[in-house]
Amino acid sequence: MGKIELNKVEKWFGDLQVIKGVDLQIEDGEFVVFVGPSGCGKSTLLRMIGGLEETSRGAIVLDGTDVTDKPPHERGLTMVFQSYALYPHMSVADNMGFSLKTSGAPKAEIDAKVGEAARILKLEPFLDRRPKALSGGQRQRVAIGRSIVRDPTAFLFDEPLSNLDAALRVEMRYEIAKLHQSLKSTMIYVTHDQVEAMTLADRIVVLEYGTIAQVGRPRELYENPANLFVAQFIGSPA
Ligand code: ADP
Ligand code: MG
Repeated sequence: MGKIELNKVEKWFGDLQVIKGVDLQIEDGEFVVFVGPSGCGKSTLLRMIGGLEETSRGAIVLDGTDVTDKPPHERGLTMVFQSYALYPHMSVADNMGFSLKTSGAPKAEIDAKVGEAARILKLEPFLDRRPKALSGGQRQRVAIGRSIVRDPTAFLFDEPLSNLDAALRVEMRYEIAKLHQSLKSTMIYVTHDQVEAMTLADRIVVLEYGTIAQVGRPRELYENPANLFVAQFIGSPA
């Protein structure tokens, strides 16, 4: 399961309020994209869901359980970032299996999970290589593989493709869409790229300086933007 509810969520950094009472329900298996300009609070909101940032007010509920005060490792979620530090001295397989190993999983289980992730991500030919012998796109796949092996209830992506060149971004966008189709997990994906948002999302959440400007299917937002701010992000005139 991977149902995520945000109830009147607020974030204050000292006197600065960056998330201003956000209500949102995300269904199990949904692909939701947070989009908006730099500084509007996308990463902060995502990090609050993941537990990397404290929630100042309101509640975060996962599958009916209030996790607002739980640390990240007790939430069953995984975060994928744009900077994906792989261990340079370890093989691809060991990079992907490392977190299972440190949590004491038996070798057979680790091998099975790593094998399955490698199959999904088309990394099977590269399992014995070191990260430096991989392309940028392959490295990003290893980073996603590290998340997959842990069977998370949801994936939280913070601009995972923004360090890649344009051609690779398009390819990886397609890979992420396929990943969602095969895993059917809940995914929340932060981007400031409208095209990424339009092509990946079941629903788009447009953030406007700490509040939700509009939530809807890409087509709904495109055809019926709530205001000029949304129209700017979805690329259709208001
Ligand atoms: P986005 O990811 O949409 O670019 P962020 O969530 O990173 O935006 O930031 C939202 C706002 O919160 C910005 O004004 C940013 O400067 C501020 N902010 C983020 N992290 C901190 C922090 N640790 N301390 C103070 N202000 C912060
Ligand atoms: Mg950000």
